Amino acid sequence: MKLTFPHIGDAHLVGRIFFSELGIEIVTPPYNTISKLEKGSGVSPDEICIPFKLMVANLMEAHAMGADTVAMPATMGPCRLGEYGELLKSILDKRGYKFHWILLDSSKAIGVRELLRRLSYLVSDSNKGLPEILLALNGTYRLIKGLEKLEQKAHLLVGYEEDRGACKKIITHCRRELSEAGSIHEALRSIRQHHKRLAQINVNRDKNPLHLLMTGEIYSMIEPFANHHMEEVLMDMGVSFEKRVTLGWWIDRTIVHPFQLKKQLLGNRYLPYEIGGYAKDTIAEGILCSRKGYDGVIQVFPVGCMPEIVAKAVFGKMMKEKKLSVLTVIYDEMGGEAGYITRIEAFVDMLSRRKRIEEKQKYDATMKKNRGKINVLPGH
Ligand code: SF4
Repeated sequence: MKLTFPHIGDAHLVGRIFFSELGIEIVTPPYNTISKLEKGSGVSPDEICIPFKLMVANLMEAHAMGADTVAMPATMGPCRLGEYGELLKSILDKRGYKFHWILLDSSKAIGVRELLRRLSYLVSDSNKGLPEILLALNGTYRLIKGLEKLEQKAHLLVGYEEDRGACKKIITHCRRELSEAGSIHEALRSIRQHHKRLAQINVNRDKNPLHLLMTGEIYSMIEPFANHHMEEVLMDMGVSFEKRVTLGWWIDRTIVHPFQLKKQLLGNRYLPYEIGGYAKDTIAEGILCSRKGYDGVIQVFPVGCMPEIVAKAVFGKMMKEKKLSVLTVIYDEMGGEAGYITRIEAFVDMLSRRKRIEEKQKYDATMKKNRGKINVLPGH
């Protein structure tokens, strides 16, 4: 078996480490580029969303590199991603790209037993026993969480760093080491070391950077090519930000805690119904943002994503009622980045200016209050 899976964020990094620990060969397709997107668009239905077009191109290239089995995440939901496995198979079969397919659905949809059966097929080529496989799974989960924690810390610290680019350098270096790590143990050690390095960078806590929330469609959140590397753009601008929709978040939600519905999702009066994708989560994030005093939200999704278009409309209402500042960035199949970057820069400029004015008003009000106190002191 030569296993492959479509690119989605760091899945290929951790996937390589996990499967090589078990002695299973995997084929990693080349990184997404605009030419791969064109290749995928050439064989995809016109109206389908961008994640599909990229995934089909990934699998065509992996097939050319010798892959014969596909592991494909699915959600069985009303979002089209739930049906991608079937459609990908049909399109690729017709063009002669024959694969064995392993659909990794939510245990809520197919049951724990069926999910375990599919997972065991995934590792059937390994000569390791169940305890070693479970240990490797646990180690890989810690790897994903550890890397995401490192990124989360770096995304927040970046607004306070004294040496511009220090946080970004640590993340890039960590990824490079993970791409060369020979075992889960080595990869975990590397992540620990990078956490220590991040804790040692020079920061200036007197700074008061913008604090944004990045949210939106799941594939665009996780796969950097699909959001035109927005995290790097924000880090280069020195903006502190948070992003909760990650690979680890998806694993927790789909596999580890499939029945755990967050309170905030249930009590979401702006979007009380499930409409597919993760639109309800996007809105819940917006509500959280308005409660927790973030400076703004950047919503990202690819053109043609129906759930997020609905979320965008709901954000319009929240902008009026909750005074939420939202920038919606919809990515299409054009490769040019200047237009997107200009919009993000303008949004950041506008919020920074508003923050400065608010700070000045607050400062003036405090001074006025203190002057009043001084005037009533005895002897004055
Ligand atoms: S959430 Fe939107 S972009 Fe993502 S797979 Fe579903 S429809 Fe497509």
